[in-house]
Formats: sequence, structure tokens, C-alpha cells
Amino acid sequence: MRILLTGGAGFIGSHLCDRLLARGDEVTVVDNLVTGDLQNLEHIRDPRFRFVEHDIGQPLIWPDPVDAVFNLACPASPVDYIKLPLETLRVGAHGAWNMLEIAREKGALFLQASTSEVYGDPEVHPQPESYHGHVNPIGPRSVYDESKRYTEALVMAFRRTHGVRTRMVRIFNTYGPRMRLDDGRVIPNFFTQALRGDAITVYGDGSQTRSFCYVSDLVEGIVALSEADFAEPVNLGNPIERTVLDLAREVIRITGSSSRVEFRELPQDDPKLRRPVIDRARAVLGWEPRVGLEEGLELTLADFSARIARAAAKAART
Ligand code: UDP
Repeated sequence: MRILLTGGAGFIGSHLCDRLLARGDEVTVVDNLVTGDLQNLEHIRDPRFRFVEHDIGQPLIWPDPVDAVFNLACPASPVDYIKLPLETLRVGAHGAWNMLEIAREKGALFLQASTSEVYGDPEVHPQPESYHGHVNPIGPRSVYDESKRYTEALVMAFRRTHGVRTRMVRIFNTYGPRMRLDDGRVIPNFFTQALRGDAITVYGDGSQTRSFCYVSDLVEGIVALSEADFAEPVNLGNPIERTVLDLAREVIRITGSSSRVEFRELPQDDPKLRRPVIDRARAVLGWEPRVGLEEGLELTLADFSARIARAAAKAART
């Protein structure tokens, strides 16, 4: 297949790129590198791979045939999207529209990366796809939540109006190698703090929960969805739920760190609970996560330690 993959220089996008190349696809990554990093792609030697630096918020003239568009471009860490509010809204609105136009024109499949944030600070727990969410439309997180909710509406409108073949995945917290060390999300923060011996910053009292999925599991789910004939949104995530404080303790344990926990103010609208119902993914895709939290954290630790050591060695040379 000839694939356009937006956001392919990002954390999840670059792993998906590897997976699609391994399947034998021809992959063009389109990314403006606002939060992505070319280092995530530098290991690729495949002649079927191309990179185009472009902001999909601007129209993309694309003369070549396309079989599938995977639309992953968007800042995804709360720290990033709160710093980039207009970029985040634009990529969900104009960016998705521009890419849907390409899918329509080429007769290509369109797969949209959506998010558990469409459920906001949920009043239904765990969250099935049928839940419509509890989102503050004007709070600091709204730029991401409403951007993704708008994109979901747009995808369905292109499907209903123009018959574009669409797929939609709602991605829950995902982690693994290549996450930016400074992206501000909980797993990179806790690991970098533990490895540097700094205090582990737990926001609020740490009783809020998340359910963490290892990136290879998520990527398998995305590929399976692209191969299935199913247009409704599908939750992909690991239903094993942990409090943030438990996660902090787990990170301290596996790093053998002497860091202590320091409590900080809870950000506004931070969801108190989050866990996916994955019955739909099980039934439609035969998918479920395989990598447990401990194993996934070990794999992530190996990558983070190596990158932190490289950065320290570089700093010592200069
Ligand atoms: N969090 C924390 N300390 C940090 C970073 C995040 O306690 O240094 C908490 C955050 O308040 C949230 C959870 O960890 O409750 C997950 O945050 P993250 O930014 O990873 O993603 P979110 O799930 O909120 O989009």
C-alpha cells in the first residue's frame, strides 16, 4: 500500500511507520516537526520511505496515488498542547480537513487517531465508546479535547457526505521508547526524575488513575483497525488501571532510584479516572494488549537510560 502518515516523526507515528514498512508498505511521513523529531526516523534505511516537512494545516498538493492516509499529526502531551493552543486547534480542524480531501480525491482509506480525551473528566467509568464524554469546552485542555472531538465529527461528515472509507481509533495513555524526555507526560517525567535523582513530581494527591498501554500493542491495534471494515470509533488501550502515586512507586522501584515523591498542584480539569472498555476492539479486531506494565516500563527504561546517558556525555564534551 502507498501510505501518507501524518505525525510520523512523533512517538506513536514513528513506531507505526516502522510497522508499516515491515509490512511492505511504501510510507511517506508528513510532519512539521513542531513536537515530532527526525531522530525518531533516522534509523530507517528503506527506499520505500520518504519524509516531507509540511504543516498539514496548510493544503498539501499531492500528485501521487495514495491507498491510505493515517492521520496522527497533533501535539499530544498536555504540556505541549497547552503551549500550542492555536496549532492544536488548527491541526484538528484544517489539518484533518486537508487530509480528508486527499483521501476523498484519491479514493484512499482514512484512519484518524483520536483520543480518550474526548471523554474529558469522565463521569462514566470505565469508558466505553458509547459514552459521549464530559469535556470543559473552554478550559486549558479544551484546545486538544475539542480539536479531536471536532475531527471525529468531520471524519463522520466526510464519510456520510462523500463516502470516504474511514476508521477512528481512540487512543488511551500510551508509552514506550522514543517519547520525548521533556514532553511533560507522566512516564517520561517520572523516569527522567528518577534517573537524575530529582524529586518525583506527583500532581494532586496522586489518587487519579490512568491505564497505560505499551506502544507495540497500540500499533498492532491501529494496523488491525486499518484492515477491518469498521467505521465507528474503537478504544485502544490497556485496561489495567493504576493510580499516579502507584506509578511513581513502581518507577522508583524499577530504577532503584533514591528520589522521593514531591506533591505539586493538580492541573485544571485533569481527569480523575481513566480506563478503556476494550470489548469492541476484542470483538471487532480480536485485539488485546500483551505487554504488561512492568515489562513495558523495563523496555522504556532501557531506552530512556541510554538517551539520558548520551545527552550527559554530550554535555560533558561541550
Ligand atoms: N502527572 C503527574 N506528574 C507529572 C506529570 C503528570 O502526577 O510529572 C499526572 C497528571 O496530573 C495526570 C497523569 O499524571 O493525572 C497523566 O498525565 P499525562 O500528562 O501523562 O497525560 P494525560 O493522561 O493527563 O493526558
